[in-house]
Amino acid sequence: MAKATTLTTDRRIRREITITGIVQGVGFRPFIHRLAQKHGIAGTVHNFTGGVVIEAEGQPEAVAAFIGDLPREKPPIARIDDITVVELPALGDAEFVITPSREAAGGTILLSPDVAMCDDCLRELFDPDDRRYRYPFINCTNCGPRFTIIQSVPYDRPNTTMRPFSMCRHCQAEYDDIGDRRYHAQPNACPVCGPEVELIFGDERCSADEAIEQAIELLAAGKIVAIKGLGGFHLACDATSQDAVQELRRRKGREEKPLAIMSTSLEEMESYCHLTEEAQELLTGAIRPIVLLKKRTSVIAPSVAPDSKYYGVMTPYTPLHHLLLADDRLPALVMTSGNLSEEPLATQNDEARGRLAHIADGFLLHDREIEIGCDDSVVRPTKLGPIVMRRARGYVPFPVTLKRDLGRVLAVGGHLKNTFCLTDGRNAFLSQHIGDLEDANTLDYFQWCVDHLQDVLRVEPELIAHDLHPDYLSSHYAQRLAEERGLDAVAVQHHHAHIAACMAEHAAVGPVLGIACDGTGYGADGTVWGCEILLSDYDDYTRAAHLEYVPLPGGEQAIKEPWRVAAVYLHRQGLLDADIDFCHNLDRPRWRLLEQMIEKNINCPSASSAGRLFSAVSALVGLRSVDAYEGQSAMMLEAAATDAEGVYSYEITESDGMLVMSPGLMFVEIVADLEAGKDTGEISVRFHNTFVAMVGDAAVRVAKKTGIKQIAMSGGTFQNELVLHGLPQRLTEVGLEVLIHQETPPNDGGLALGQAVVASARNY
Ligand SMILES: [Zn+2]
Ligand SMILES: [Zn+2]
Repeated sequence: MAKATTLTTDRRIRREITITGIVQGVGFRPFIHRLAQKHGIAGTVHNFTGGVVIEAEGQPEAVAAFIGDLPREKPPIARIDDITVVELPALGDAEFVITPSREAAGGTILLSPDVAMCDDCLRELFDPDDRRYRYPFINCTNCGPRFTIIQSVPYDRPNTTMRPFSMCRHCQAEYDDIGDRRYHAQPNACPVCGPEVELIFGDERCSADEAIEQAIELLAAGKIVAIKGLGGFHLACDATSQDAVQELRRRKGREEKPLAIMSTSLEEMESYCHLTEEAQELLTGAIRPIVLLKKRTSVIAPSVAPDSKYYGVMTPYTPLHHLLLADDRLPALVMTSGNLSEEPLATQNDEARGRLAHIADGFLLHDREIEIGCDDSVVRPTKLGPIVMRRARGYVPFPVTLKRDLGRVLAVGGHLKNTFCLTDGRNAFLSQHIGDLEDANTLDYFQWCVDHLQDVLRVEPELIAHDLHPDYLSSHYAQRLAEERGLDAVAVQHHHAHIAACMAEHAAVGPVLGIACDGTGYGADGTVWGCEILLSDYDDYTRAAHLEYVPLPGGEQAIKEPWRVAAVYLHRQGLLDADIDFCHNLDRPRWRLLEQMIEKNINCPSASSAGRLFSAVSALVGLRSVDAYEGQSAMMLEAAATDAEGVYSYEITESDGMLVMSPGLMFVEIVADLEAGKDTGEISVRFHNTFVAMVGDAAVRVAKKTGIKQIAMSGGTFQNELVLHGLPQRLTEVGLEVLIHQETPPNDGGLALGQAVVASARNY
């Protein structure tokens, strides 16, 4: 035997193959094992902190074929970033084995996001002969929880919240069997040994199938149930019951935001929204985000999304969801985040039972701990491809891979819709959606998430980036952290960060013309910016154009009450006595107070904000005079638009090389249209056309002046489909190239990436 081995080693070669990318927790080692057997390869494979190392020994042709098959046949959710091959002397190994994980210095760890349940597991879930029949925690190497259960690395069961569950004999056998789909599936479990569900309803408690049955009963009877999922709790109710949905809204407080809907069958979805092919792919893939789709008139309760022309829809992504929605009585469930407004998601059983007690009638809990919260992601399919609006479950912690090496930067993001970003070389790890950093609770959660990500990625930042705004909690945190660690803290202007994020995503060389349109961002001159054309590079920018400033009487209050800004615009044009509803209904005494504030310049910050302009028009045409949530009035204006044509007048003036976009004339014409009794939808679409024309014209003028032909668009206004489609169309028609976010959100959810890019460019 020994002799035979020696003989065959003559022609044998051995190669060390190091693979980096997303290769842990995705069934990679079993795949390597199978591939080795297929090609008659001996040797070893093991995980190390930065990826996977294979030592492959065999005939030269076989080793070459083995290496060639690696990228071609990799598991569906794996991602290979790099393969390096080093020659080793042949050792004469007789077989291929998986050896224990090793720790190694250096190398970025890429962890897998949570993955929606696969078809094989789905089949088993509903197979009465399967030992996991109707077991709500079924998973395998191709699916199941990952990021939300990982406590530390390497990704092995003792380092996850599955540690308390010892596998039974059957599960252990699967786990150890290289030929099994559950080989080294860390969350592997069954009804005998794994987590359990429990339903709590008043004084009643029940578990297993009875709990699921009871939850279905409650939901079908119009009750509200808090359901523990992968990365947090959902509040669920029957989406076809107007009473149930209204009750949910009533208990959640003044909450009026659109609610997400979950349905199992695409046919069912087709009955209440327009399903495109692209949307179907998103709804049935491994990520399964919430997909924004145009509504149809249907059985869905009107109060699910009253302000929007879209529904946010998703398909079940955990076995528990599948079990709940398999019942005919529940064709569609409202599944909204289990939190109040923008506070962090509830993830722990006790926490949820406390915080959601006044909202939920029942609690469907389980005993697998959620290590870290992660919301549902939101994606909008557009003519320009799908755009990620909220990047969380299914994406995080996959990095955005950049062309430039950023070093190790921690960027803390902005104020609203906060995410942060940790970079390591060319990998930018944009965090899951955290929420609005307005109170100590959210800040605590934010800090915990920052620490957790640093721990599991083993990345210690060398540089801190934050927003230019001096009063943001995130800015304070960044400065404190920098001081503690003796690091530099770089302040990055809000809209420059937006543009830099878009540039980085597309690896733009720069300079570009950045069009940044959103609600508010602290300007370099201390005013509120929000409709800006910036001549941008990674390290710096020059402001080339902006929307004409208007005072915001009352500051924050003017943001929440769009009627104030509408009155300011009308006042400027001398139109406050026009014969229109807005003027008839205007609270004159309050307006006079605001007028005095403007005259004396008390708490009246100047703003060049696109968001305020949209809100003002919304208030003027009678859609919404006070916002119940951020962006509501603008969303309603978009929803109102018909497909009429036409455009209002506007002016672009120049002083000291700066272009100023003035929509004053538009207000004169809108008032005339209102006086003539024109339809709100018609006015809305003309307003959108005017905005696109005005910003487009300004951009073209700057492009001509500077010779720059590449445009990067970013900011929350690009969530508006009319702007998102209209502006690129106008700009590409005149030969300009337009870059728009795809992988990262155009709203403030993508801001941290831009901060990291700018800080790194300035510092290195
Ligand atoms: Zn599976
Ligand atoms: Zn078991």
